[in-house]
Amino acid sequence: MGLTGLDIFKLLPKTNCKECGKPTCLAFAMALAGKKAKAADCPHLSEEAKAALEGASAPPVQPVKIGVGETRFKTGEETALFRHDEKFYNPTGIAVTIGDDLDDDALNARLEKINALQFERVGERIAVDLVAIENKSGEAEKFAAAARKIADKTKLNLILISSEPGNMKAAAARVGERRPLLYGADRGNVEAMTAVARDAGCPIGVKGESLDELAELTQMIKNGGVEEIVIDPMPRGPGDAVEKFTAIRRLALKKSFRPLGFPIIAFAGRDDPYRECMEAGSFICKYAGIVVMHGCEAWQMLPLLTLRMNIFTDPQKPIQVEAKLYKVGEPHENSPLLCTTNFSLTYFTVEGEVESSRMPSYILSVDTEGTSVLTAYSADKFNEKIIHKAMDEAEVEQAVSHRKIIIPGYVAVLSGKLEEETGWEVLVGPKEASFIPRYLKETWK
Ligand code: SF4
Repeated sequence: MGLTGLDIFKLLPKTNCKECGKPTCLAFAMALAGKKAKAADCPHLSEEAKAALEGASAPPVQPVKIGVGETRFKTGEETALFRHDEKFYNPTGIAVTIGDDLDDDALNARLEKINALQFERVGERIAVDLVAIENKSGEAEKFAAAARKIADKTKLNLILISSEPGNMKAAAARVGERRPLLYGADRGNVEAMTAVARDAGCPIGVKGESLDELAELTQMIKNGGVEEIVIDPMPRGPGDAVEKFTAIRRLALKKSFRPLGFPIIAFAGRDDPYRECMEAGSFICKYAGIVVMHGCEAWQMLPLLTLRMNIFTDPQKPIQVEAKLYKVGEPHENSPLLCTTNFSLTYFTVEGEVESSRMPSYILSVDTEGTSVLTAYSADKFNEKIIHKAMDEAEVEQAVSHRKIIIPGYVAVLSGKLEEETGWEVLVGPKEASFIPRYLKETWK
């Protein structure tokens, strides 16, 4: 829990010297509490106050970065228990396992399948994030060689899974430049594993059978010089998992309990592919930072990635497309011009139906702050003036010569006003997008 403005004020020199750019120490304290100032802006803080303020401003769930460069995966830094309070920030990473005991052909085939697990949904690419390489052979050289082969054939980030520090060291040495997560520290090997992670400059994954044990192990790892940690509370089933994951998030956020303020890694059960998928779904909802799957079928991944997309969307901010004139196919001056709102689901539904009509068309997406047609109309965000402005800004006159615009059937009531406002002929389209192909075929000659 962060400090309040008054808590912060008590730590300040109270001289009101204004050097921080604020008129008083109290104003500075309030700005700091509201994250509108930095502790470093006050040059007169005591060492004790600096330490207290820095500790309080650290995120309750530490960030952990796996990988390097643009495709680097980041987890942690969550600040809310419920997404209606505040959005969840870093989407759960989905990892798929691959064993180092596979022969070359099987390894390549599985990796190819994992690499292909990417889809497009409402204009966004959704895909798995990580490959989890398991040291099933128990051999250092096989593990290291498999890690290298996989690293050379995928851009996905890597997790190395082994509880043998020597094997982990060998694999980390071969793929260290990819900054993999080294998973497998436990009570028996924590010191040696910490040393491997520290020397390789990699984040570490640690498991413990109870939250107390896990809290103790994370402190040992931090004392050993590794800051980026993901934790596995080793649940005994999906119910126990959700209970433990919730307790961890609650302790981190509500009690500022730093020893458990780390992202969680969760392993979905492998016995049944349907159950695996359901377990992974519940882990995404509550509160895994990474979910490791064994199954890698598209039918398993697509629903999980879709669920993840929904959970990590800001509920206070509807997903929207850019408000502009879109082309479907290669439209020309006589092509239909349809108009809709910039709510992603609405826009892509319309676009999909226009595409399936096989009639090259223009779609004018109007900025309604990401709301759907009826919601936007009710909130007066989709009226004749706003549509007219969108038409002008998109220069639709340059695109088509017929001066006809098709509006959604649900706002037929707008047609007269829009005609008066724009001087264009307004055609009322169908209420349901699924009727667009038939509508275009029958009305657009
Ligand atoms: S610089 Fe520090 S001491 Fe001076 S007004 Fe700001 S908070 Fe107070």
